[in-house]
Amino acid sequence: MSRFWSKTVKELTPYVPGEQPKLSQLIKLNTNESPYGPSPKALAAIAAANTEALRLYPDPNSDALKQSIAKLHGLTANQVFVGNGSDEVLAHVFLGLLKHEHPILFPDITYSFYPVYCKLYGISFDNIPLSDDFSISVADYLKKNNGRNGGIIFPNPNAPTGRALPLKDIETLLQSNQDSVVVIDEAYVDYGTDSAIALVDQYPNLLVTRTLSKSYALAGLRVGYAVGHSDLIEALERVKNSFNSYPIDKLAMAGAIAAIEDQDYLKKISQAVIKTRENLIQSLNTLGFETIPSSANFIFTKHPKHDAAVVAAKLREKHIIVRHFKLPRIDQYLRITIGTDEQCDELVKAIKEIL
Ligand code: PMP
Repeated sequence: MSRFWSKTVKELTPYVPGEQPKLSQLIKLNTNESPYGPSPKALAAIAAANTEALRLYPDPNSDALKQSIAKLHGLTANQVFVGNGSDEVLAHVFLGLLKHEHPILFPDITYSFYPVYCKLYGISFDNIPLSDDFSISVADYLKKNNGRNGGIIFPNPNAPTGRALPLKDIETLLQSNQDSVVVIDEAYVDYGTDSAIALVDQYPNLLVTRTLSKSYALAGLRVGYAVGHSDLIEALERVKNSFNSYPIDKLAMAGAIAAIEDQDYLKKISQAVIKTRENLIQSLNTLGFETIPSSANFIFTKHPKHDAAVVAAKLREKHIIVRHFKLPRIDQYLRITIGTDEQCDELVKAIKEIL
């Protein structure tokens, strides 16, 4: 704390990202990164990028990247916004589309950055509790405050639970909540969830965000995007052009375009993660764990007889790190990122020893 801090800064509660340990020789299953490398074509495109051109600013509009995203989803480039990771895209969404008179709505258990953006921008919010099985009940959102809200946001599948909401429920929400924007954060969609992007042309109140950090294995490149009606995209462009004109650097641009064009590789590594996930769930459940059905590259699991914080600490002693949240309703759960088959075998072996 310093007398030089602004009132806003004094009152912030910043987001705490999962640990990026400096130690090597760790099995790192705590921040939902891909265990596989990015597309070799993306790496080649970054290596081949014209580094002499780094002397010049990148294209402030990232037109070529928007074109490739638009093509992938059968949309036009004016329906696409790109940013420095989906966290930056989300930050602009909160300021540009979710700051209104009424509180916005999101689940009580969800991505913990959402309340941080609310605090930063002075946005009021109401948490809607997940059902006992950690599913999202659309009816609860429609009922809240007699249907008046400043917007609705949640990840699908949700994080850290991994549970997905069927597309028909999202459509019900869009139809019955036409006076505010519904944001679906699809950070983990490639691991088996139907995408709401199919509904973008039908619903002007729908915005879908995506990231290249998880399924594309490019967390270090920092590229995320949003798709929606061009009016929604224009709001995000207005915020971006009042904040940072050049969020996508030239290397990120080259790598992201090549990665997006290599959908075969994306499917291959996503399928591998799904297969490992199902095997891991089975192994853990055989040991007595209770695991929420997952559509993500992580699982959310608890053991009725073993304290989650203790298990996490003992795993760490064995150089395996997983994520534990000391929060109401979920403090008995571990969130475990799906690693390679070998890493998950090591994890199961370590857990057997601990139990
Ligand atoms: N949304 C959700 C639900 C996430 O878990 C994450 C990763 N922490 C993000 C968005 C942000 O990802 P990135 O900024 O790497 O694109």
